[in-house]
Amino acid sequence: MNHDQMERSLGGPVVVGRARRPAGSRWWQRSFDKHLWCGRCTRAFPNGTYRLFGRGKTCPYADCEADIARDALEWSQLRCEHPGYPVTPWLGIQYPLRQHAPVIAKMSGARGRG
Ligand SMILES: [Zn+2]
Repeated sequence: MNHDQMERSLGGPVVVGRARRPAGSRWWQRSFDKHLWCGRCTRAFPNGTYRLFGRGKTCPYADCEADIARDALEWSQLRCEHPGYPVTPWLGIQYPLRQHAPVIAKMSGARGRG
């Protein structure tokens, strides 16, 4: 995915910087996850991608103003809770923390596990 495609998926211009660890990551995680997950809009985005908004770096999605340092988790942490989520998340798809399947899975007729 190139930068243009990514901005289209995210809904607006973004900055692509260096990958970082969000505040909530564990000290023993040595490598950066390739994707982060926004706890406010529940969408994933490439690690290091953000928008500059006000004082800090916010979620790259144009309609979300979550503070990455506070609201984002590493995608792998979310996958610990949801092993069914893909290794590489789609951009623009919501992956809720509290449900066991992303919204799009309903279309494929995936059966839930209680
Ligand atoms: Zn967000």
